[in-house]
Amino acid sequence: MGIEQNVQKLLKELPGGVELVAAAKTRTAEEVLAAVEAGIKIIGQNYVQEAEAIYPAVGNKARWHFIGHLQKNKAKKAVKIFDMIETVDSVEIAAEIDKRCALMGKVMPVLVEVNSGQEPQKSGVLPEKAEELVRAISGLPNIKVMGLMTMGPRFGDPEDSRPYFITTRKIFERIKSMAIPNIEMRYLSMGMTNSYRVALEEGANIVRIGNLIFGQRESD
Ligand SMILES: *Cc1c(COP(=O)(O)O)cnc(C)c1O
Repeated sequence: MGIEQNVQKLLKELPGGVELVAAAKTRTAEEVLAAVEAGIKIIGQNYVQEAEAIYPAVGNKARWHFIGHLQKNKAKKAVKIFDMIETVDSVEIAAEIDKRCALMGKVMPVLVEVNSGQEPQKSGVLPEKAEELVRAISGLPNIKVMGLMTMGPRFGDPEDSRPYFITTRKIFERIKSMAIPNIEMRYLSMGMTNSYRVALEEGANIVRIGNLIFGQRESD
């Protein structure tokens, strides 16, 4: 199937209130544009440079979510392109985004990334530190915490992802119940091509999907 049919099938399948992010790493501007024309409203990018390369072709036909690991020296460019940064995992990067946004007169919606599998090589804040980080950055005036994101470990069987999605959802609900000033726990971003159905069952309302839209990445 082509990109257009893949997008339409997915959009039909997703329940109301769930946002679909097309994870576009390694894809060309033509491929991303095809997805947008088929109904994709949000493009996810892992690298600022890749987003810059396809931005002229796609621009504001869609919204842009940053879903990779953001380096401090890329924050200035990132806040220009992106409408949400899903991967805040330290006070330092939050403060840098806040500073760059202040200079532009912009308030950036952000999600806090949770390293739900507690994997040493992965980014994200450890589950037991998530609340502390949310509180620590809640007072920054030019960012707005709007929820959590997680990747979780990669498995062949999507059922194996469920415990990590449950962990993240529980943190999400606990923080939500605390009604911390200036934050709004609205979005729970979890699930990819092989795990999005399980993620939806566990409360995700943003799913980030690449291969199922664009075809198998050559690098995988
Ligand atoms: C690549 C990527 C996805 C999508 O993965 P697929 O298996 O292609 O659906 C989702 N989230 C992040 C952070 C990614 O890097």
